[in-house]
Amino acid sequence: MSHSLQKPLLVISAGRTRDLAGWQPQHLAEVLAGRAPARRGPRSPAFFIDLDEVGAVVLWTKQPAALLESPDMGRLLLGLRERGILVVLQLSVTGLGGSPLEPGIPDPFETAGTLEQILEQGLLAGPDCVKLRWDPVAEYDLGMVVGGEHRGRRLILSNAREELFSPVFERFRRIGAVTWTSSVLDLKYRGASGRLKEAGITVEDHDAEWYRPFYTGMAGMVTSAGGRFSLCCSPSLEPWVSGDGCIDGEWINGLRKDHFAAGTPLVETTPHNVKRKGGQRPLCGCSYSVDISYSTGFRTCATQYEEGGAGGCCLYCYSWHGRSGTETSRAVGTALQQLRSRPPLKGASGGGEIFWHRGLRIREEQHVR
Ligand code: SF4
Repeated sequence: MSHSLQKPLLVISAGRTRDLAGWQPQHLAEVLAGRAPARRGPRSPAFFIDLDEVGAVVLWTKQPAALLESPDMGRLLLGLRERGILVVLQLSVTGLGGSPLEPGIPDPFETAGTLEQILEQGLLAGPDCVKLRWDPVAEYDLGMVVGGEHRGRRLILSNAREELFSPVFERFRRIGAVTWTSSVLDLKYRGASGRLKEAGITVEDHDAEWYRPFYTGMAGMVTSAGGRFSLCCSPSLEPWVSGDGCIDGEWINGLRKDHFAAGTPLVETTPHNVKRKGGQRPLCGCSYSVDISYSTGFRTCATQYEEGGAGGCCLYCYSWHGRSGTETSRAVGTALQQLRSRPPLKGASGGGEIFWHRGLRIREEQHVR
């Protein structure tokens, strides 16, 4: 490969606000190869990516099977690797795939199997190039049980639970993927809180202390397996923060040195908010990158889902704004109805009754506010 420029190489982020790889891998391959125009923001001018200037491509997805199903994307990933461009997979695995919060999203064990195939096909340089995202974390009150002897009790679902994270962590550890990041759900974005309200779901308002036991356990599991653990934009949970940003130039450069020949050129490490004078949340620790989520032709998960695409959509997501009457609302409503009318299994744990739904532990409790 030849890089004509001495300045640090660019990191392309695809993308923070839309699942480009999951829904439109063909178009993404065209944009990344510089054959279709990209844009840096909703009102930015179009440009064509010049791969000679790129040192890393970060793919964010919850639906990695699309990488296997798209021949163009497969070819592109192999080609990037050959020319010394590192591909990092930010793989979102929240533990809630298939629940009413994430209708249509695969469960974590299915995602792990898909990652295994991606690695077997050499589409990534190695499992160390995967950053797993247990994100966002929250405790949701799904509303009342509607019938039977437990009528009037509430269903509580949370992914801040070690018993949910632990087997998922173990499954990915066996593949060699041990870098994890997480963050607490932030509901200040418009759209998400309205959709949750419409579905009758309440997000429990917990302070940092409530999350401490979960994050202590999570950080301990990750670091004792030799992995890196970081929290995104969560200052009050600082004791566990490794200092890594989600897109972290130093970490990417370490991977470049591990996977490419000695003397490989490095990517930009300047903090994004310094270089762009803001642009990300104030506490964001990311290095500078060019995010192409808003490039022409990419659509939101909600748009794709409404059109009957074979993928999922998330109720709490801030990147789309539709509410009533949408396909997502209907899918959530059906899932909640099934859940709320399901006879509970009796079990004993943590003071509440417990049953399992698609691998998720739902706590049923007499809720006192
Ligand atoms: S709906 Fe939002 S959170 Fe869910 S996969 Fe799409 S972009 Fe990600």
